[in-house]
Amino acid sequence: MAKNIGPVCKLCRREGEKLFLKGERCFTPKCALERRAYAPGQHGKTGSRGSATRTGRESDYARQLRAKQRARRVYGILERQFRRYYETSLTRRGLTGLNLLQILESRLDNVIFRLGFAASRAQARLLVTHGHFVVNGRRTDVPSMILKEGDVIAVRDGSRNLAYFKEMGDLAEKRTFPAWLGRDLKQMSGFIARLPERAEIDGNLNEQLIVEYYSR
Ligand code: SF4
Repeated sequence: MAKNIGPVCKLCRREGEKLFLKGERCFTPKCALERRAYAPGQHGKTGSRGSATRTGRESDYARQLRAKQRARRVYGILERQFRRYYETSLTRRGLTGLNLLQILESRLDNVIFRLGFAASRAQARLLVTHGHFVVNGRRTDVPSMILKEGDVIAVRDGSRNLAYFKEMGDLAEKRTFPAWLGRDLKQMSGFIARLPERAEIDGNLNEQLIVEYYSR
C-alpha cells in the first residue's frame, strides 16, 4: 500500500490550517500548528513560501492546486490514486465534484474514522492492514476499499476485546457520527445507510476547484 511517509504535521503547516491527521494530539497544545503557526521551511516565517503566511493575490491555478492538495492530504491519498478517483467520478451520474467527495468518504479507512473506531484516518489504515476489520463478514486488509450502501463494517471478533478497541468504544460513545452511517458500539460495527450529502462532508473542501484543476 503506497502512502505518504513524510512528517504529517508539516502538511497542516503547509496548508495553514489544522487537518486533524494525528487523532487526539490535534486537540492538545502539542499540536504543531499551535506552536509554529507558519509554513515549514527556511522561508516559512517570511511568507514567501507556503500558504500559512502567504500574502498577495493567488493565481487560479494556485487556488485549484491548493484545493486539490488539501483534499488529498485530509484523506491521506497519493496523487495517482486521487486522479483515479477523479476519473471514476466523471463516469458516475450527477455532479463530478460531489461524486469525488462521496468516493473519498466511502473509503473503508475514512468510514472507520467517521464511526469513531480509530482516532485518525492514518490509524484506521494501520488497523485495517493489520487485519482488525471485517467487511460484510469477510476479513480485509485493504483500507482503500470503496464501500457502498448497505455494506457492514465490524471489528473482527478476535480483536474486539483488545484494550485499544475498548478505549475507542468508550471515546466513540461521547462523539457523534454522520447521519449517513449507522453504528452499534456494543458490537463495534457500523453500516453505510446511504451516500453522504454535500452538507455532511467537510465544508472546507472545495470540490469545484479540484474539478477545475483536473479539467485544465
Ligand atoms: Fe495537524 Fe494534528 Fe499535527 Fe496539529 S497535531 S499540525 S492538527 S496533524
